Amino acid sequence: MVNQENSENQRNQSNQSNQDNQSNQENLLGSPQTPYDLIISGAGPAGLTAGIIGGRHKLNVLVCEKAERASPFPRGETLHNARIFSEVLGDNVLNLITTHLTAARKFNSPNAENSLEIYRRSPSIVYSWDRFIELLLSRINETSTEIRYNTEVSSTIIENNVCKGVRLKSGELIYGSSVMVAEGHNSKLGQALDFPYASINCPVVKRLISNFHGDYMGFEYFFLAPGSLEYAPRFPPGIIFVFPRGNGNCEVGLMIFTDMAQRLTSICDIPSEDELLRVWSKLIATYPRFSDLMKNTEITFEGITQIASAKVVDNPMPVPGLFFTGGAMGFVEHSGSSGIASSMQIAKFAVDHIASKKISNWNKYLVHRYVKSVRKTKFYKHILSNARKTAFGKKFLFLRLRTSENINKNWNFVKAAYKLQ
Ligand SMILES: Cc1cc2nc3c(=O)[nH]c(=O)nc-3n(C[C@H](O)[C@H](O)[C@H](O)COP(=O)(O)OP(=O)(O)OC[C@H]3O[C@@H](n4cnc5c(N)ncnc54)[C@H](O)[C@@H]3O)c2cc1C
Repeated sequence: MVNQENSENQRNQSNQSNQDNQSNQENLLGSPQTPYDLIISGAGPAGLTAGIIGGRHKLNVLVCEKAERASPFPRGETLHNARIFSEVLGDNVLNLITTHLTAARKFNSPNAENSLEIYRRSPSIVYSWDRFIELLLSRINETSTEIRYNTEVSSTIIENNVCKGVRLKSGELIYGSSVMVAEGHNSKLGQALDFPYASINCPVVKRLISNFHGDYMGFEYFFLAPGSLEYAPRFPPGIIFVFPRGNGNCEVGLMIFTDMAQRLTSICDIPSEDELLRVWSKLIATYPRFSDLMKNTEITFEGITQIASAKVVDNPMPVPGLFFTGGAMGFVEHSGSSGIASSMQIAKFAVDHIASKKISNWNKYLVHRYVKSVRKTKFYKHILSNARKTAFGKKFLFLRLRTSENINKNWNFVKAAYKLQ
């Protein structure tokens, strides 16, 4: 009898603790009853900035990163100083990771027959990607924002046409009042909404080298005219870049102008990755001046990726509660493919907006107000006007003048037009 009573008591206790567990689980952050204030997909510059700012606003924030660490592929490693860096990282913190400063630029015409040298008003800062990401992480660690690695977001949870959270690749559902897409150039969530990444992204090969002994310590560029390489007659217009990093290190690469290639389909194609690499090694071996700069250098990193710098997605919130930022919406300066500052600016703006308006239930009116307020910002207008001006210059070079010979013949005119900008 005593035993029976005991076991009845135990059953009651265990029922009670099951109920407690269940209600604890229901109240866990990320459940439908207790959603995060903000879920961020992607821990690059945009996602980490949003995590930092959300944490500073005391929001409950979760960052999901598909890789085993934040942003493992080294992307942009040069930037122009902008207020956003001190706002997010602290005053003068960039000095800690700067390896080289330069305001000088040299643009070479096809085959390096002519050049144009200019000086920017302020120097560009050269730094290491990993150290930059470490700085962002150190700021996130000062807040209560959570980061989950090896956590790939595969889709959104949509209820009554409003985004209510994310589904992970593992099948787990996580609820959040707002979701930010900071997945970069080939976002899964953007693909699900038919974002035109084939027109947004420019293929690029990036190489980091040591033992570089160039004679020019500014940034140097070489324009490639469409169809101008005899070993790749259908190769599209593009640009080779050489960014010295100090101490004999340098970043070099080749980027295709997707927007121009798409207008020249009768004479060129976007190359496959294999073709891009084949042409890249030929350029390193034979392209005038560039091949000399590459002699005796040693590769420390090489990879193929894309830069989202050919088209800006018009709507930063295509579904109520689902923000797009950074590379995922092509929010990159088209002139120099700089996207670090702009990714961080739009991410910060979005989180400040959520916090100041205390938004927990999105509706069409709130979406309209957000989209209108982003479009009014200086940084948003800058990205759009930069895209327009750059398109004008590229059309003139690659559609109007088109051939290497013509571009070289009109180089003085190109120089004058550039200086007038
Ligand atoms: C070769 C190269 C050179 C560049 N040079 C410069 C430069 O000199 N200066 C400059 O300002 N900009 C430069 N850029 C552009 C700049 O790097 C990008 O605009 C910027 O990194 C975009 O930031 P982001 O946070 O939006 O995306 P990303 O930096 O691409 O970060 C996206 C993150 O999301 C993660 N992710 C993706 N999908 C998922 C998913 N489904 N679930 C979870 N996580 C996911 C990725 O692993 C990654 O960590 C360069 C880019 C490249 C590729």
